Amino acid sequence: MSTGRLTIDLAAIAENWRALDARSAATVETAATVKADGYGLGIGPVARALHAAGARSFFVAVAEEGAALREAVGPNPRIFVYGGHMPGDTDMIGDLGLIPLLNSIEQMTRHFEALPGAPFGIQLDSDMNRLGMEAGEWLAVRDLTMRQGPQLIMSHLACADEPDRPMNRRQLDKFREMTRGLGVPLSIAATGGTLLGPDYHFDMTRPGIGLYGGMPFADAAAVVRLSLPVIQVRDVEKGEPVGYGNTWWADKPTRLATVAAGYADGIHRALSNKAVMYHGTVPCPVVGRVSMDLITVDISGLDGDPQALDLLSTMQTVDDVADNAGTIGYEILTSLGPRYTRRYTGLSAS
Ligand SMILES: *Cc1c(COP(=O)(O)O)cnc(C)c1O
Repeated sequence: MSTGRLTIDLAAIAENWRALDARSAATVETAATVKADGYGLGIGPVARALHAAGARSFFVAVAEEGAALREAVGPNPRIFVYGGHMPGDTDMIGDLGLIPLLNSIEQMTRHFEALPGAPFGIQLDSDMNRLGMEAGEWLAVRDLTMRQGPQLIMSHLACADEPDRPMNRRQLDKFREMTRGLGVPLSIAATGGTLLGPDYHFDMTRPGIGLYGGMPFADAAAVVRLSLPVIQVRDVEKGEPVGYGNTWWADKPTRLATVAAGYADGIHRALSNKAVMYHGTVPCPVVGRVSMDLITVDISGLDGDPQALDLLSTMQTVDDVADNAGTIGYEILTSLGPRYTRRYTGLSAS
């Protein structure tokens, strides 16, 4: 093994989907958000596992992501596109049967003119001020839009991972007001909203991060293990420096392992002198700077020399690593680089 090995447990992803599905009533559809290559884990295997678990609607960020997804799940599942219908997307949307979530009058005009009768959904902005039509705009086109029969009307919560924020209830009220009496399936909940409770479930939830074992789904099954090969081991004396900029100095004789991974593989440079890797259950601190392709680790606490060290395992989640790097689990997952060998376990027979 010369590159890091990323092991992805598809059975755990399926288990997380079922656990989130169980949080809402049987009448509520649980979709799956698989944008950014299935949060960095590989959209094909991830989507096939979710489809086998029972997911029938999927969400991607941009139309391009729909191609590999369509290939993975076949012709029947619905594929919604959060970015809507952008210039140049018409052929892809038509050919792949994607459902754009139209977010402006401009997008509506483009879609209705280019693909008359093709399915679509609507994205409303409930004061996150990121994407979607605002109340006034929506009011102006609502009746015309309803005659075209949208498949879904959705919005997105800005603070759903913090249940106590009054913003959650404010957005809920706003979304209800904008959609009252329309008789179209509605959705506002991602992972955080799914956990906020039934008021937020409407007709469909569309979790992403929780499927992949990340917060705010604290009860998630662990999905990823990242094991990094050791390419050299050495002893340094008290008073010797390690790595770029000499940011770490040995204060006692220390045994060091150098592993073959770095910030080009998504192990953020902010983890220099901060991260911890594991050999089994034994923590081994990262010492010195994280380089592009190499990281130095203090293995003085181990009995022998390891062949590999784990950055992600049951000992340390993406959120633990994220806390150390000053970011969120989403960014750690989606940064996992293309050099890793991806191995899938828990594959179902289908
Ligand atoms: C990414 C995204 C989701 C999924 O969010 P998670 O927090 O990963 O569950 C849902 N809706 C929208 C609009 C998104 O951009």
